[in-house]
Amino acid sequence: MPELPEVEVTRRQLAPMLVGRKVARVFTTRPSYFFLTPPATLRRRLTGRVVERLERLGKYLLADLDSGERLLLHLGMTGEIVREGAVDHDRHVHLRLEFDDGRPGVVFRDERKFGKVQLLAAGEDSKRVLRLGPDALSADAEHLHAATRGRRIPIKTLLLDQAVLAGVGNIYADEALFLARVRPTRRAAGLTRAETPAIAAAVRQVLRRAIEAGGSSISDFVQPEGGEGGYQHERHVYAREGEPCGRCGTAIRRTVLGQRSSHYCPSCQR
Ligand SMILES: [Zn+2]
Repeated sequence: MPELPEVEVTRRQLAPMLVGRKVARVFTTRPSYFFLTPPATLRRRLTGRVVERLERLGKYLLADLDSGERLLLHLGMTGEIVREGAVDHDRHVHLRLEFDDGRPGVVFRDERKFGKVQLLAAGEDSKRVLRLGPDALSADAEHLHAATRGRRIPIKTLLLDQAVLAGVGNIYADEALFLARVRPTRRAAGLTRAETPAIAAAVRQVLRRAIEAGGSSISDFVQPEGGEGGYQHERHVYAREGEPCGRCGTAIRRTVLGQRSSHYCPSCQR
């Protein structure tokens, strides 16, 4: 499932494929839960528009149009937004944009269709975006510490709450807690004044490194230009159950928290 680094890598490669180009034609599949805005409306409103800017907040992409409208995009579980021709053009392509310059278009492909597309009117806010906490790339120690107070839930579960930090998912929560030497099962409220800044710093560090590596292609992630990420080769604990910890050699353990797998080193993480 794409998390902040995969969405940021998508934004960086996608921006030059979108910004400044005029949409000549829009193709969609039939109405479904993928389309928060009816596909017929998308086809009508997007045609003739120019994307002026592509931004990211948490796991959401927001494309500003020259009409003042904004296109909200979320990759869901298996979404990939790529240059036309970079992936198979099949029934899983739900949105395709062609431009008036004749160069390759852009396709949004999603096998499981948990991705989302929504067109926001000028000045309209998305409820989904308004609910988000600060972007995890700038995770702040004071903010995280305050968010843990009075919370009886495990720190891993708190990190996955998009209202606390936007953009962290299962892979990078496990990786950050390893770097911070804190067990995912620890009760958030019990974390010390020394531990919460270490976790915030680890979140920033692991997300930055994953962006540099091009994201993680553990399951499906494909970059807009068709390449794969490289962070999966650097991960410390995620999906490494039974393998030795790179720091101390102890076998990595897996436990289930809130129906999500969590991975940690029982020696290094307390
Ligand atoms: Zn260890």
